Amino acid sequence: MIEIQTEIASAIKQHRDEIVEFIQAVVRLPSLADNEGPVQKLIADKLRSLDLYVERIPVHFEKIKAHPAFCDDGYSPDSRYNILGNWQNEKAGKSLILNGHVDVVPTGPPENWNESPWSGALIKNRIYGRGSCDMKAGLSAGIFAVEILKKLGFAPNGSVQIQSVVGEESGGCGTLANIVNGYTADGAVILEPTSLRICPIQSGALTFSITIHGRATHAATRWEGVSAIEKFELVHQVIQELEKDRHQSFHVQYYERSDRVAPINIGTIRSGDWHSTVPEKLMAEGRLGVFPGESADEARTALEEAIGKAAGQDKWLAKEPPKVQWIEGQFESGQTSVEHPLVKTLLGCHESVTNDKGQLEGVTYGSDLRLFTNYAKIPTVLYGPGDVRTAHSANEYVEIEHVMTAVDVIANLIVRWCGGTVG
Ligand SMILES: [Zn+2]
Repeated sequence: MIEIQTEIASAIKQHRDEIVEFIQAVVRLPSLADNEGPVQKLIADKLRSLDLYVERIPVHFEKIKAHPAFCDDGYSPDSRYNILGNWQNEKAGKSLILNGHVDVVPTGPPENWNESPWSGALIKNRIYGRGSCDMKAGLSAGIFAVEILKKLGFAPNGSVQIQSVVGEESGGCGTLANIVNGYTADGAVILEPTSLRICPIQSGALTFSITIHGRATHAATRWEGVSAIEKFELVHQVIQELEKDRHQSFHVQYYERSDRVAPINIGTIRSGDWHSTVPEKLMAEGRLGVFPGESADEARTALEEAIGKAAGQDKWLAKEPPKVQWIEGQFESGQTSVEHPLVKTLLGCHESVTNDKGQLEGVTYGSDLRLFTNYAKIPTVLYGPGDVRTAHSANEYVEIEHVMTAVDVIANLIVRWCGGTVG
């Protein structure tokens, strides 16, 4: 075991340039939702060059829309597909999925970037570009972990499957298609940017809208009307109190801060159509965080009840109750026990590669983890290079050292989790 660990480490050093060049190449292909084709082709070619059995899984919404976790992201041309690279073995070792998404979020104003968002520029040991951190570097790390083990003549006892998926940022249709097609394993690592922390716990997020009706009148006689904006202020206050109360009633471990596990955010407000008219309607949209272990229904009820209670105490709102609707993304929370052997094995690999204590952490953002843990019943951990705070922002980047460590840790995980022999 120690021997192969040393060999892995020196092989990674030899492949450093190749790893960097591959990440640059995938970052240079703009793969916004619905445009993942060219990057998937490049990934498929790479996996074929490693002599993996490559499958192309179409992501037809017709096939997945009956699934309870399905979120329609509004795209679905039939040309979208996942790429799977299978390193199969008939022996009885444990199997592993290495999952990463290739879709990226929009770049925002290009003038906010120092280089083009699709430059893949290499500056001071960082690779820049949209998708570098989230999460083309992570996916590449998984691919190179396999490449390096193959070059060392290692053969796993259990199968390893690389899943390069589409549509994660807009709801997870890619990973869901793999699950609906029956792909499974004894464990999965999603190579999201976790700053190399081991993250088996994830909050959920539910999108909602609130509609409030008032009564319009001329501003000069505004006391004759009811301002929907003023009524929303009451509701907003209740929402802020609810966020605080919920954090006091849930005792969640492993998060960076126990008061920031499941935030509630109001993101948009639209109201009024004329400055001298009392606004008669307001529509707000927001995102409600779901605690680990809490169901989406429980979270929805908590918000509806808090708003309902506040409305009951106001004369106008008691008659014209605010209407809460659940729209677009409805992402549940998900978790794998920190005691699960997959988590412990990954932690052990991280510690022996880095000579540093591994950190377990819960994350507040959504990912495909929930689909694996809640529906496919696959124990799953998020682990990968890059700091999520640079993701989705201008000048997104990933540190090459992070990537090298991730390749090393994942290669060791395959050895320890799947078992195997050097041929
Ligand atoms: Zn991501």
